[in-house]
Amino acid sequence: MKDDNHPGPAFVLEGVSKVYPRTVAISRVSLEIGRGERVAVVGPSGSGKTTFLHLLGGIVKPDEGRVFIDGRPLSALRRRKELASMVGLIHQQFDLVPHLSVVHNVLAGRLGYWNLLRSLLSLISPRELPLALEALRKVGLPDKVYERTSKLSGGEQQRVAIARLLVQSPRAILADEPVASLDPARAEDLMQLLLDIVQESQRTLVASLHSVEITRRYFSRAIGLRNGQLQFDIPVEVLTGQMLEELYDLGDKKGHLETELSTAP
Ligand code: ADP
Repeated sequence: MKDDNHPGPAFVLEGVSKVYPRTVAISRVSLEIGRGERVAVVGPSGSGKTTFLHLLGGIVKPDEGRVFIDGRPLSALRRRKELASMVGLIHQQFDLVPHLSVVHNVLAGRLGYWNLLRSLLSLISPRELPLALEALRKVGLPDKVYERTSKLSGGEQQRVAIARLLVQSPRAILADEPVASLDPARAEDLMQLLLDIVQESQRTLVASLHSVEITRRYFSRAIGLRNGQLQFDIPVEVLTGQMLEELYDLGDKKGHLETELSTAP
């Protein structure tokens, strides 16, 4: 089946649960995410945001229910190459290889497309270099191509991770707290970059976040998780500070959220 032109939703979850020995990380979640939608996943630490993203990305398999990506059941997507063209994930820790050059880390985005031999050769002499150069130009790092990745700042490394995603070129981007380690100005820059990337190719974006401001500015829909359960799934225009207060239950998060909630109605 050809899925490139699959007209339906990018993701469908049908009664999905993920259970760890001590925790129900995601509990019976059913929803659809349309192509080109920009969805913010909010909720306190441990509420299941990462697990939710990993289920969408096919990194963890549900213990109950079914996940469909571009109309294909996750259980039928066995080939890494196929999954890599569908979804790309930006982790909180970027997952870069520190001692490798920037360009090698960016080219790692092609690994899903290559066989092992070609992948190993690419670590010696960068193949598809123009692709990597173009991606690094787009993320604003054209002069860091051969720099050792560990020498870059946190914000720059985050951009390398995005350049890697650009060469992977998936139809949906999943970002796990992409701005958590950045100061407000860099967070805005990074979100703008992600927005440009998803908008230019009608990509779907699903990101976990804690910021009301960023959710409002860059996303169209907000999903609230608490103890693995869906608390709300709403357009960002109707998201209120009250809803977030209830979601986070403030408590020990009060200090962290106070500033952010003060900007919400
Ligand atoms: P969040 O991203 O919102 O912080 P997570 O999805 O990381 O939440 O975690 C949800 C719950 O599942 C937490 O209680 C966490 O401890 C648990 N959990 C996540 N991954 C694992 C794992 N690999 N093994 C055991 N428990 C896990």
